[in-house]
Amino acid sequence: MSLRFKAITDLTAEAVEMKQVGATKVTAIFGENVFTLKTARQYLTDDSYKSLVSSIKGAKKIDRAVAGQVANGIKAWAEEKGVTHYTHWFQPLTGTTAEKHDSFFTLKSDGTAIEEFDGAALIQQEPDASSFPSGGLRATFEARGYTAWDPSSPPFIMEIGQGKTLCIPTIFISYTGESLDYKAPLLKALEALNNAAVDVAYYFDRNITRVTPTLGWEQEYFLVDEGLANARPDLVQCGRTVFGASPAKGQQLEDHYFGSIPERVYAFMRDFETECYKLGIPLKTRHNEVAPSQFEVAPIFEEVGVAVDHNSLMMDIMERVSRRHGLKVLMHEKPFAGINGNGKHNNWSMATDTGINLLSPGKTPKTNLMFLTFFVNTIKAVHDYADVLRSSIASAGNDHRLGANEAPPAIISVFIGKYLTKVLEDIESRVGAKFDEQDEAILKLDIHRSIPELLLDNTDRNRTSPFAFTGNKFEFRAVGSATNCASPMTVLNVIMAETLKKFKVDVEELIKGGEKKDIAIMQVIQRYIVESKSVLFEGDGYSDAWHQEAAKRGLQNIPTTPLALDAMVTDKAKALFTSNNVYTKPELEARHEIELEKYIKKVQIEARIIGDLALNHIIPAAVKYQNDLLANITGLKSAGLPASAYDSQLTIVTEISEHIQVICKKVDELVEARKVANAIEHSREKAISYNTIKDNFFDTIRYHVDKLEHLVDDDLWTLPKYREMLFLR
Ligand code: ADP
Ligand code: MG
Repeated sequence: MSLRFKAITDLTAEAVEMKQVGATKVTAIFGENVFTLKTARQYLTDDSYKSLVSSIKGAKKIDRAVAGQVANGIKAWAEEKGVTHYTHWFQPLTGTTAEKHDSFFTLKSDGTAIEEFDGAALIQQEPDASSFPSGGLRATFEARGYTAWDPSSPPFIMEIGQGKTLCIPTIFISYTGESLDYKAPLLKALEALNNAAVDVAYYFDRNITRVTPTLGWEQEYFLVDEGLANARPDLVQCGRTVFGASPAKGQQLEDHYFGSIPERVYAFMRDFETECYKLGIPLKTRHNEVAPSQFEVAPIFEEVGVAVDHNSLMMDIMERVSRRHGLKVLMHEKPFAGINGNGKHNNWSMATDTGINLLSPGKTPKTNLMFLTFFVNTIKAVHDYADVLRSSIASAGNDHRLGANEAPPAIISVFIGKYLTKVLEDIESRVGAKFDEQDEAILKLDIHRSIPELLLDNTDRNRTSPFAFTGNKFEFRAVGSATNCASPMTVLNVIMAETLKKFKVDVEELIKGGEKKDIAIMQVIQRYIVESKSVLFEGDGYSDAWHQEAAKRGLQNIPTTPLALDAMVTDKAKALFTSNNVYTKPELEARHEIELEKYIKKVQIEARIIGDLALNHIIPAAVKYQNDLLANITGLKSAGLPASAYDSQLTIVTEISEHIQVICKKVDELVEARKVANAIEHSREKAISYNTIKDNFFDTIRYHVDKLEHLVDDDLWTLPKYREMLFLR
């Protein structure tokens, strides 16, 4: 029996035991496995507690002596919870999380066994870094790398089966200080944003001393029965199906969206949510998504750094917990053709230490001007650096989404809704007419009376925009589901920092020229609106008309990763990242190299899987069926039946032959094309070449394979079909 039928039989034979999860009140377990400040209060002395707090708040380095005390406190807490091992937890550029477990256990020189976790072990570790991607940085600099404690994210305990491990969130850098992970540059970008935003906020409120960007992500994913998934080598190796005919029923009835959650899935959700709550991940919503077997989970928003860690951690937990339930989570951007893919909306805003959301339209003219300042600066940032933003979400997986007519297009535009469009138009219409004293009326603009109502008006929502203002935050929707949020968040925060810095300079110049502060601010806002309005778009982002219109406006539309990544290493990008201390030029070039390599490898693996499946699964099944038909035809002939009795069989035999011939020919050509691509030295050219391979062969081979799926006897087909993966559970 093929794995396919075994999996189907297992499903119906109730071999899948539903794992029941007890109901627990969330507040009773929330954060119990996190070394929160509240816990720290209990386990640390006054001095070390204070020192920890100030290093969290001010992102200050903790000194060695205090680190020892903090380490002791953390160890005491962890041991009470049954922890035996610890690890530095980090997010290397491979796109997953990494850990290397060490035991607290150690031997003293006299052979006594003790448990130990000292300050040095907390602050710094040297994992064997050689197998993590470095984009050539290591060749240029130093062979070694180290992980360093990031106090802004609290230590936590990971429970795997009966084992418990203390995880210390860290950044990962080379010995000469180049960042090798997602987190280090993100922290630098957040700091750049803080500095620039505090400077600008000072115009409006001198009590603001810190601005913290916030992130609320929405993670989409598919769930497939693990048995069925294991019978699909493409799902196992690439995370997406390279073949598969559309089922009779796909998502056309739209009956899955917000429908009731299937019981087995529900058990899985409650299980992984419980694990997440223990780790302090504030999950809030769960629901069915548009496609069959597609779901979404979203937390309450948090500070960006913590939110990024929590997303990576949750992806990891989902993966592990799903196995307990006989399910496989698919985080790929496009696991199935013909139905929606997975995105990860990044809701972003900025919060002040005085408790104000800078993107929330206030009630008074003064706060409105502050809102307007940050709102328009965001639009300007996206306008000026749309290409860099686009590059931050480029991946082989996301290429299937962006540009397809179901996800935000690869063209970066901003949606702000009817009301704010009108507000910006009103301000803009004053171009030429200088703002003067009497014109201070414009500062009021009636914004304070109308904007709060807009927040309630959910109809004013455009689902096709890659970057949309949704009442009190911007929602970056073009982010792929498998992407580490740190990548888009680093870019969004640094382009905002850069734009705010320019804004300040522009305003100061006018003030020096004798302009009143508020008038100067209004004038710069007006200029920014004029300069960046080409990025504003309220219509249907999926339409062809928009593609033409965007081209006319000079907006970039780069649907493929190898070219989209160019924007990382332009002079403009280098100036942006170096002047804000986020990346050095070598770091940027290394990242570019790493992203290109990732792309090449992903497409390369898919190309191999396509060849393997075609030759080992598809053609053998087709040939067997052809033989069955031929035997049938011979039988009918020898029984003396006329040709009309086996005409149809003969037609099918011929059709199958035709498909087999094309598949074999194309697979041969694909192998040859790969050899040519592999010989290319330069990564960018190689990636472009792989993209061409994908365009030239993947869809053609798939077309013929999917035709065969419709022709060949179902009993002989070894790969689970779409209708089974998407509807059986
Ligand atoms: P949807 O987009 O599905 O309609 P919501 O708009 O209610 O859902 O919220 C989506 C996400 O936006 C949630 O994760 C929420 O926490 C987050 N969010 C809300 N306010 C902010 C904010 N000020 N900063 C960042 N994220 C926010
Ligand atoms: Mg959303």
